[in-house]
Amino acid sequence: MSGIYLHIPFCKQACSYCDFYFVTRTSEREHFVQQLLKEIYSYADTQNAEETVKTIYFGGGTPSLLEPRQVEKILEALEQIFQVDSREITFEMNPDDVTEPFLADLRNLGVSRASMGVQSFDPELLKFMHRAHSSEEALHCLELLSNSPFESYTVDLIYGNPNQSNEQLETDLNKLLPFNPPHVSAYSLTIEPRTRLGKQVELGRIAPPEDDKVATHFDIVNKRLSEHGIKRYEVSNYSRPGCEAHHNSSYWEHENYLGLGPGAHSFWWGEKAYRWKNEADLRSYLRDEDSKEKEQLSLQQLAEERLMMGLRTRLGVGVKELEKKYDYILTDRQQQYLVKRQQEGKLKVDNRIKLTDKGIKIADAIILDLVTLY
Ligand code: SF4
Repeated sequence: MSGIYLHIPFCKQACSYCDFYFVTRTSEREHFVQQLLKEIYSYADTQNAEETVKTIYFGGGTPSLLEPRQVEKILEALEQIFQVDSREITFEMNPDDVTEPFLADLRNLGVSRASMGVQSFDPELLKFMHRAHSSEEALHCLELLSNSPFESYTVDLIYGNPNQSNEQLETDLNKLLPFNPPHVSAYSLTIEPRTRLGKQVELGRIAPPEDDKVATHFDIVNKRLSEHGIKRYEVSNYSRPGCEAHHNSSYWEHENYLGLGPGAHSFWWGEKAYRWKNEADLRSYLRDEDSKEKEQLSLQQLAEERLMMGLRTRLGVGVKELEKKYDYILTDRQQQYLVKRQQEGKLKVDNRIKLTDKGIKIADAIILDLVTLY
């Protein structure tokens, strides 16, 4: 099974926390689509085009800055070059771009899952994050979505903002939950160095969020969503039973995927495993000059990645899977470490290693310890 990720690198403005690759000049969208079609056609008759494509993901950037006719052309080109038997086509959108006809057009084109970048309903927080939409638009897009032909959709929320109180988070959840979303991605705000927020922290104008506060926010989100039947299946992803996203799961399970568009990553495990990245530069991409950084991955690197990604999920990682697929046998030191953390209630080990709610909050530290003890 393989997935295709399409990076649409345009945004109306730069959100203060974002370190994805994007540009704010949107005049080159048509030229970009033509180049993206060219990149899709470049895979004609290659080994990569032989696997059935099960998921397609329009991410960015802001895919909702594309027109439906452009989305149609992209989907047609994918169908022409790849064996598309998609169980899921996800399309990221921002609240200020969404209209009823836009949603209907996307659904008619076969897009099956909408991913709405709400982040918050709080005007102050939206301003702090430098989001392009208002609180009213955030609510309105959810009304449109609930009455649209989309049965499956997800809403992105951000918590752990430096000035965000527990009450503000509760209010955001109070506004979201009446819509009964099938899926929610809730991310704790991370401060990346090359962002506007990162610079403000560096200059001492803003204090980064405290770990305790972030952990409390995580508990609030976990509890409130869980009470509404929306359960965590990955550190940042929650869904109603059967509404889990397939595309991201394929990343966590090392399924093959291709990333198209500037800055997009690809992973392919045939006889050997490779990861490569398109240059994150729209100008080079449009001039057809982008260079790809390709890296071959060893089995040990793959095993460590599998541990990192798998331990963030509810299913965890199978001990036998590590042995068979990655030739990775847990050392005595690792086993002793797992026993200790199990006694502390941070994880469970039988034939799988799974982090508990207590452990998931310090997932990165546990994973790092485990990997270094190999
Ligand atoms: S968060 Fe999304 S909309 Fe905001 S700058 Fe980043 S990619 Fe663009």
